[in-house]
Amino acid sequence: MRAMVLTAQGSPLRLEERPDPQPGGGEIRVAVGACGVCRTDLHVVDGELPDIKCPIVPGHEIVGRVDLIGPNVTTHRIGDRVGIPWLGYTCGICRFCRERMENLCDRPLFTGYTRDGGFASHTIADARYAFPLGDDGDDVSIAPLLCAGLIGWRSLVMAGNAERLGIYGFGAAGHIIAQIAKWQGRSVYAFTRGGDVVAQEFARRLGAVWVGASDDAPDRPLDAAIIYAPAGELVPAALRAVRKGGRVVCAGIHMSDIPSFPYALLWEERQLVSVANLTRQDGLDFLKVAPLAGVKTQTTAFPLDQANEVLSKLRTGQILGAAVLRP
Ligand SMILES: [Zn+2]
Ligand SMILES: [Zn+2]
Repeated sequence: MRAMVLTAQGSPLRLEERPDPQPGGGEIRVAVGACGVCRTDLHVVDGELPDIKCPIVPGHEIVGRVDLIGPNVTTHRIGDRVGIPWLGYTCGICRFCRERMENLCDRPLFTGYTRDGGFASHTIADARYAFPLGDDGDDVSIAPLLCAGLIGWRSLVMAGNAERLGIYGFGAAGHIIAQIAKWQGRSVYAFTRGGDVVAQEFARRLGAVWVGASDDAPDRPLDAAIIYAPAGELVPAALRAVRKGGRVVCAGIHMSDIPSFPYALLWEERQLVSVANLTRQDGLDFLKVAPLAGVKTQTTAFPLDQANEVLSKLRTGQILGAAVLRP
């Protein structure tokens, strides 16, 4: 197999030839058709997340076909198309697993972070955490649904029944969730990095009723806002934009420090919450909703060995929608 490998955080990925991996009990091997590049991969590579397994193959938006099945797997057959998300394993016995909060498991494994992921021709997955995808749609278009879509979905659910919904950061997650929010009958307010007319035009095309820079005030107070960009200064900006009792959801795994802000921004029962990871139920729910809502992802595909260039483009905001690697 071929893989793009991170050997030390902060250094570029290296293309390696490795022996083909063999699935253990309960595992499947997947021939990767496409793997999306998520901002979390950037945090992994840049050393912004703790306790990484190194060397590691990043990538957790994997679409591929099962090409080998380990012992004790009855749920998948060779040739099945599956999606492998960020959540790669949970312990099943900690209090969070037992109380239907497996996203907060005490002993989890995460794809492309603490177990090898999809920036590769092949990967091994725990069969219980590989979603059946069926045969509709192409691998590249589906890949961004596996994290941007899925964790975006969890953040949208957490935003409650907000009618006027702000989206801060209109990238991979933002552009998927805007389509679902619109389909649900909500009004989407898109906030982009100041002056990014390309992203603003993109948001308008996807049905946003209002677009502006991230420090602009919306024309009316929002019911809720979701922050996808990893910039702490967006927290007070979003709290300022929501109404009394409104909610701000931080959807990223990493964010720069939040600047101090007057208590008045939180007062009047505004809420500030974060989203961590996903549950398998989120995945099943979202993969059902996305086709109903007619979600169309905007993707640009690159060959696997260009992973470093793609990460640089993502870092500097040069990707419209989502980037996807094809091994
Ligand atoms: Zn657990
Ligand atoms: Zn991700």
